[in-house]
Amino acid sequence: MQPTRALATIAALTLLLLSLAAGTVPSIAPAPATTQPSDNAAIKVALQERKTWTFADPAPVVTFDNTFSGARVNDCTQVGPHEFKILVTPENEPINPSPWYAFRVKASAPVEITVRLAIATAKSRPRARISEDGIRWKRVDDADWKGESGAPECVLKLKVGPKPVWVASNHMVSVDQLWAWTDALARKPGASMRTIGQSIAGRPIKLVEVDQGAPANYVIIIGRQHPPEVTGSIGLMAFMDRVMDESEISSAFRKKFRVVTVPLVNPDGVHEGQWRSTLGAVDSNRDWHDFSQPETTAVRDAILAIQKRPDTRLFLLLDFHTTSKDIFYLPPDSAKTFPPSFSRRWVDAIQARFPDYEVESSGSHNVDQWTFKRWAFETTGAPGITYELGSGTSPAKIERIVQGAADEAIRLLMESADAPRSEGPFPPKPDTIVEVKPSGRPAVVGP
Ligand SMILES: [Zn+2]
Repeated sequence: MQPTRALATIAALTLLLLSLAAGTVPSIAPAPATTQPSDNAAIKVALQERKTWTFADPAPVVTFDNTFSGARVNDCTQVGPHEFKILVTPENEPINPSPWYAFRVKASAPVEITVRLAIATAKSRPRARISEDGIRWKRVDDADWKGESGAPECVLKLKVGPKPVWVASNHMVSVDQLWAWTDALARKPGASMRTIGQSIAGRPIKLVEVDQGAPANYVIIIGRQHPPEVTGSIGLMAFMDRVMDESEISSAFRKKFRVVTVPLVNPDGVHEGQWRSTLGAVDSNRDWHDFSQPETTAVRDAILAIQKRPDTRLFLLLDFHTTSKDIFYLPPDSAKTFPPSFSRRWVDAIQARFPDYEVESSGSHNVDQWTFKRWAFETTGAPGITYELGSGTSPAKIERIVQGAADEAIRLLMESADAPRSEGPFPPKPDTIVEVKPSGRPAVVGP
C-alpha cells in the first residue's frame, strides 16, 4: 500500500470514529435493558441481569453498570473500602475460553478504586482496555494490572470520577457501530441492503450486495460469528473499505466482481456480551452442518440463493475472526478449488508484499469441524477461508495488513475473472446443486 493511501485510510477511520464520538451515528445502543427472555423459548443461554450497582460507604459513591449494548457483568459486590469484585461468567458451558467483560464505572468525586475481576475461566486473562467515551480505547498500563494466566482473579487499579470510565476486555465494536458502517456501505453506488433473516431475539441479519454492473462473479464476506472478536470486525471493515474505495485496482475489480457481505452474523451475542454463542447456546461456527440456529440458516440460504442465480460463479468466501494471533485457516492443501490454488497463492502474495510481517496459515485447522469455511468450500468448490486477526493486533496494523491483503486478493481474482466456465470445477452446474437439508450433510459440489 502506498503511504498516502494508508494515511487516507487511517484518516477515514479517524473521521468515522470522530463522527461516532460526535453522535452523528449512534455508537452505543441506548441500552434496551434485556433481550426479553421470558417469552422466547429459543433462548438457551444464561442472560446477565442488566442493572446498576451503587456503593455509598465509604464516600464517594461508586456506581457500576452493565446497561449498555455489549456489556457483560454477572455480579458486582463490594469487598473492601474502594474495592469491588466483578463476576463474569459465560453464557453456557462448556465454552471456548475467550472471555468477554465490559462495564462502566463512575464516582461522585475523584477516587482510586481496585476492581477484582473474577472471570469464570482461568485459561485466558484479557488485559483490560479503558475508554472515556466507549469509542477510543487504550490498554491498561502494566502498573495498574495484575492478571496471570491461571490466577483466580485479575486486579485492576482505576482512577474514577463523575465522568464514566468504560472498561472492557478489548476495545468495543458494538452492534450499532457495525450497523452504522453497514448502512453507510449500503448507500454506496450499486450497493443494496436486505434483511436475510432474524436472530433469536429478533435482530435483523443484514446483507449488503454491491453490483456495479459486473458479471455474476461473487466474493462473499461474513463476520462476527463470535461476539468478542472485535479485531475480526475491524479486519472485515478494512477489507470491504478497500474493495469499495476509488483506487484504480478496486474500481476495476468492481467491474468484474459483485461483493456480498454479512458483517454481523451474531448480533444477539454481541449485544449480550457473550463469549462465543448465539442465544441458542450454539457456537455458530460449528453449526454449518446442523443449521440449528436462525443466524446460520439465514446466511446459508442467502448464499444458496445467490449460487442458484443464472451464471453465478462463486470465487471466494471469507469469514473474519479473532484469535491469539494473525493467521489464515485455509482449505486443506489437497483441495482443488477454483481459482486454482487461490489460498496458497494469496498467502504467498501477502507475504511477499509485507516481508517484515510473518503471514501464518494452516490448511489443517479444525478440518473435522462444521465451520463456515468448510461448508463454503464443500458446497461451492470455491475457497472458504477463515481470516483471523490477533486480539492484540492494533487497528492501525489491521488497516495496513488487511488492505494489502485485499489488494492481493483482488489481483489474483482478476486473473481468473474472465476464465471460461469450462475451466476448473466451477460450481454450480445446475444439475449438481443439492439443497442443504437441516441435520443433513451438505451437498458436496466439486472436489
Ligand atoms: Zn472466531
